[in-house]
Amino acid sequence: MPLSFDNSYTRLPDRFYVRVRPKAVPQPAWLVVNEPLGELLGLSPEELRSPELLDTLAGNRILPGSEPIALAYAGHQFGGFVPRLGDGRALLLGEVIGKDGKRRDVQLKGSGPTPFSRGGDGRAALGPVLREFLVSEAMHTLGVPTTRALAAVLTGELVYREQPLPGAVLTRVAASHLRIGTVEYFAYQRDREALALLVEHALARHYPERVGAEEPALALLDGVMEAQAALVARWLGLGFVHGVMNTDNCSLSGETLDYGPCAFLDAYDPGRTFSSIDHYGRYAFGNQPRILLWNLARLAEALLPLLDGDDKSKIGTLEARLERFPSLFEQAYGAVLREKLGLLQEQPGDLDLARALLDQMARDRVDYTLAFRRLTRLAESQEDTLSELFSNQELIHTWLTSWRQRLAAEPTSAEERSQRMRRANPAYIPRNHRVEEALAAAAQGDLAPFERLRSVLAHPWDDHPEHVELALPPGEEQWRYRTFCGT
Ligand code: AMP
Ligand code: MG
Repeated sequence: MPLSFDNSYTRLPDRFYVRVRPKAVPQPAWLVVNEPLGELLGLSPEELRSPELLDTLAGNRILPGSEPIALAYAGHQFGGFVPRLGDGRALLLGEVIGKDGKRRDVQLKGSGPTPFSRGGDGRAALGPVLREFLVSEAMHTLGVPTTRALAAVLTGELVYREQPLPGAVLTRVAASHLRIGTVEYFAYQRDREALALLVEHALARHYPERVGAEEPALALLDGVMEAQAALVARWLGLGFVHGVMNTDNCSLSGETLDYGPCAFLDAYDPGRTFSSIDHYGRYAFGNQPRILLWNLARLAEALLPLLDGDDKSKIGTLEARLERFPSLFEQAYGAVLREKLGLLQEQPGDLDLARALLDQMARDRVDYTLAFRRLTRLAESQEDTLSELFSNQELIHTWLTSWRQRLAAEPTSAEERSQRMRRANPAYIPRNHRVEEALAAAAQGDLAPFERLRSVLAHPWDDHPEHVELALPPGEEQWRYRTFCGT
């Protein structure tokens, strides 16, 4: 049997999910498979590429032990509450304990309609499926907690969006698919029993060290708050803009979830949004920590019925918990920025030093990834290719002087610093224009640009001289011109 399932979620009461079969598709065909992830789940390369698994991952076959379910959840979308969302185009096939002993969900996304589809077709198109595959795996490589992608398959069917597009199914692998919206679903229904079971399940699964806490609901809030603060700090370190941080896309495990409209900054700009539906910049790059806190406040509200005491004291308790967020986040973000600057020891003033550089980058719209990579080179070789990115040479040189003084204040070896800086400052990220290019080619049946990007992103810290154009920002020529004009 290629995958051995052990399903804990179906042991929860019926109201947590609906049992649904995937809808069969006419002509399954492989697009991409992820061998290392397959291996982790106990699949040999042969099993992974078997016709049996292709049928399974297209939704045409149910493996023994698999109990497909659509999960129930609610969510705040762009600030407005929707009491019933749920898996409208995804099905959890079951849970698999990996070779590392960790339990993971194996989910099909794009597997057909469910009772949660609300008029949608339950399907996914090739482009978004490949985008999630590429970006989630790149994030994983870059050390960001995230759902992963085991495979993408074509269905042989067209899906109708603005135009007809090839249909595809993604196999997503996640620590779980529990979200803040799952808690909200039961809170809205005043189902205290389900809430308590959910908290117990989530703690056992994601925060086992907190099982047995006096107040399990508070223990879960703390766990999610810490994990999500660390996650969003990592996003900021890479210039990642999630794009749709609704509470139904905010996982309880602290993994990045849902790669719909995500993007990466090129020019550094905290106000940058990419999503065409984010009209007010709610989910802008620099707003992500604030939105996370807003989401955590919704989680706290949803957990309130589980606390003891009168309403006033419960609210006081939850507020006191949430007040920890700013310092928690600053701690996590500070750690990320220190790594980017090559600072291994924590000293007061480090965040200010980092912010002074970011301010200059914002003023000149300097490419975020390129600038930190050039800073890394400067630390390694004294070769200054960084200053030329800035319009005010005096300002950047003054900053570099303080940075060098700060580096000199710790005993780190050049070798160690270089290694840590490279890790924190990849040469390659999934640049939006390169991802778009790869997806456009894939839609025409040419997977070569996708595979090229994927192979470079599997080693994002190396220089890959033969792929150097994949490291460059879009419109390098115009943008350089503008920068030089200022100097
Ligand atoms: P998302 O924007 O992907 O986070 O999805 C929000 C909600 O819309 C979830 O309940 C999804 O299951 C549902 N949804 C998104 N696309 C579709 C689709 N094509 N068919 C059915 N439901 C969908
Ligand atoms: Mg979603």
